[in-house]
Amino acid sequence: MPRKPPRICGCGQLVAAGTRCACQKRHDAERKARFDKGRPSAAARGLDADWRRLRKDHLRKHPFCSRCGELALEVDHIIPRSVAPARRLDPTNLQSLCKPCHSGAKQREERRNHTR
Ligand SMILES: [Zn+2]
Ligand SMILES: [Zn+2]
Repeated sequence: MPRKPPRICGCGQLVAAGTRCACQKRHDAERKARFDKGRPSAAARGLDADWRRLRKDHLRKHPFCSRCGELALEVDHIIPRSVAPARRLDPTNLQSLCKPCHSGAKQREERRNHTR
């Protein structure tokens, strides 16, 4: 079987027949990285659309803060997402909170995570 002569790649490198040039491999890796990065964010966008709908719905049904009774602008997870990620879109795991109560709850949650 006659050996095929090496070819010259567009980048100027001499490349053995049947193999890919380093520049092509790099392009492949970059394309793959872009693809891998694009997929989860597309899935996350889908989840975020669900969350936005659920959040709006919850604020319409429960317009007042469950702690202090002020007008609520935030929807909080009663059991935090870090503890129960599967209950992220569970309507029974949601509570309406006003901004100050929401940031207070978040700060406590973060402190809890730090001490754990
Ligand atoms: Zn090349
Ligand atoms: Zn409040």
